[in-house]
Amino acid sequence: MTHFHAVRFYDSSESVAAIVAAFLGAGFITYEPALVIATPARRAAIATALSAISFSVESLERSGNFLTLDAQHTLDAFLLNGVPDPVRFETLASAAFDRLNQRDRGGIRVYDEMAHILWRRGETDAALRMEMLWDRATRDYNCSLLCGHAMADFRSAAAPQALCAPHSHVLAADGVPHRNSLS
Ligand SMILES: [Zn+2]
Repeated sequence: MTHFHAVRFYDSSESVAAIVAAFLGAGFITYEPALVIATPARRAAIATALSAISFSVESLERSGNFLTLDAQHTLDAFLLNGVPDPVRFETLASAAFDRLNQRDRGGIRVYDEMAHILWRRGETDAALRMEMLWDRATRDYNCSLLCGHAMADFRSAAAPQALCAPHSHVLAADGVPHRNSLS
């Protein structure tokens, strides 16, 4: 599978939930289970958006095709002295992936906003380290990863280059996707 580690810079919670639902939905159709690591509000919005495009979240969860984790709790579990620890991350990621139905071994789709939580706190080095750990996981676990970052949390109008750099694809807040020339 081609390495896919995209980032979506979003303006509104509704727009990102719809985009995540479309991304995960495209995977469900080809038997790719999904993992979402997000805030409670975002997880609820994604579930609503999945229902709106005719996916039964309950049956996806029951069959092990959809797992959601709380971003803050998950992050707390693998920070070591405030920095994402690679061994703890590996343990956590592999435990989460083991809970998914990977009967067809076709890949896993992931939406994550833990890097954004770190960035928003001003812990930019830890956020970039998080991005690097995920980037490695996309290759190790054959997963397609979409990261979400809220534009409102950046001081300038443009997304920081440092955050774009680890991503194979950048989806700007204006909705125009482009291949990342930095990666
Ligand atoms: Zn990312």
